[in-house]
Amino acid sequence: MGLITTRLFPHLFVSWSISSRSRNLKASTGAIRPSVLATCSLISQRACSGHPGTQGGCTVARHSVSSMDDSDAAQPSLFDVAVVGGGIAGLAAISRLSRRGLRLLLVEQGRGVGGRMCTRHASCPKTGHSLVFDHGCQYFSVKEACQPQFAQEVERWLEAGVVQHWQGRIGTLDFDEDEGSLNMSSFTAFPKEKLASIMVGAPSMSALGRHILGRAGVGLKEDQRGRSIDIVVKKRTRAENVQRHSPSRRWRLQLASRTTESTATEVEARVLVVATSAKSINRLLLTSVPDEVKGINSPVCWALLVAVASPLAHIPFDGAFVANSADAGVLAWVARDSSKPGRPGTGNAPECWVLHASAGWSYSMREASTDKVREAMLAEFTKDFGTQDVVYSEAFRWNNAFPLNPMRGTAKCLVDSERHLALGGDWAAGDRVGDAFESGVALAASALALL
Ligand SMILES: Cc1cc2nc3c(=O)[nH]c(=O)nc-3n(C[C@H](O)[C@H](O)[C@H](O)COP(=O)(O)OP(=O)(O)OC[C@H]3O[C@@H](n4cnc5c(N)ncnc54)[C@H](O)[C@@H]3O)c2cc1C
Repeated sequence: MGLITTRLFPHLFVSWSISSRSRNLKASTGAIRPSVLATCSLISQRACSGHPGTQGGCTVARHSVSSMDDSDAAQPSLFDVAVVGGGIAGLAAISRLSRRGLRLLLVEQGRGVGGRMCTRHASCPKTGHSLVFDHGCQYFSVKEACQPQFAQEVERWLEAGVVQHWQGRIGTLDFDEDEGSLNMSSFTAFPKEKLASIMVGAPSMSALGRHILGRAGVGLKEDQRGRSIDIVVKKRTRAENVQRHSPSRRWRLQLASRTTESTATEVEARVLVVATSAKSINRLLLTSVPDEVKGINSPVCWALLVAVASPLAHIPFDGAFVANSADAGVLAWVARDSSKPGRPGTGNAPECWVLHASAGWSYSMREASTDKVREAMLAEFTKDFGTQDVVYSEAFRWNNAFPLNPMRGTAKCLVDSERHLALGGDWAAGDRVGDAFESGVALAASALALL
């Protein structure tokens, strides 16, 4: 059983082994004390950089309950582990916990899984063509030094074809303050080596989330060795009123459907894993949130999803960061989503673009309506890209786009071993998809150690 070096906040440090010995220790503590959050390691490491251009295993019992995917069928109300958050961190956690005979629950408030690594599907109002926009995470690459688990998984995803190299013309361009527009001729492509490392989910970012769940065995009753798979996935469901019930030493969660008016159902879990943005953890746990989580800042980011009737052949790139977006201009990132692998072919279909506004502009428009922002960003697009051929546009606000001051420690999650609680997400390891994945792997290891 792994030894967990535990840090008692704010200044006290202890170590103990997560084993029957520690369970006895915890049992002897009686009533639950105030939150005792622990990082899995004390060593802090600042190896990963910020966003470009912006800004124990344990022995487990076998169960014979069948798996369900978002079903309303009768479900067990007691789970070994409940994971709140179906983003990359939560999915990584569930996939590492699966196939161990555990009863697992994944709760995701969104329509699908993937979190900020997601895709908006729409249809062209004029022609009915399918439109595909990755409006959150644009692409990812692997930092092997601090993302070893992610590096291995990406190899498997590449083999499965659910991740592919973008192979686009990607780089930087300038905003011309005198002209008040993007200077398209200033586009400078990234070096070849960097371009070769750029990957996306295929045929969409959201396909990757579905792939991870499928590989975890959701929808299957048994794995290839005949072991039961018991994962309940509740989508469009928000976890609320999460409380630790001291006498039973279990977590109680209310699950509120976002599609029906029905009253929230209550479930219990032995271990609670919260894999969300830091702000969502604050909302969910209210008073018992560690200072580390409270202190994470993340900006608003407005996105414009726009489709034009025919390809913008005169634009010399497929993705570009606006180098001086922090000082001037509305736009920080512009991307020809249709150039990503597996997207609907352009032929006579509309071409899809995604634009991200700069941090300053997004902040200044944080209270504005989506209609007002759509109009303002669309005006920039038609002026800068020299087109009036827009057939679809939509604005979307990311409330917590990415952590500005992530923890980046080697632990990659926070663990309260007394309350059987593990907290993670990108903020616990960095600010990118690979960091979220690494945090999810750490969350799974912590949950197993806590059982
Ligand atoms: C605009 C934008 C651009 C980005 N660009 C890049 C990029 O180019 N490259 C890169 O690597 N990264 C990029 N990122 C960052 C990357 O998307 C994130 O780091 C990563 O996806 C975070 O994953 P996560 O699992 O930690 O959190 P999330 O993806 O936020 O997942 C958390 C999930 O928890 C759910 N949730 C929250 N509260 C509850 C609740 N109470 N009940 C149920 N569910 C709940 C949320 O709905 C969400 O789906 C970008 C992000 C944004 C927003």
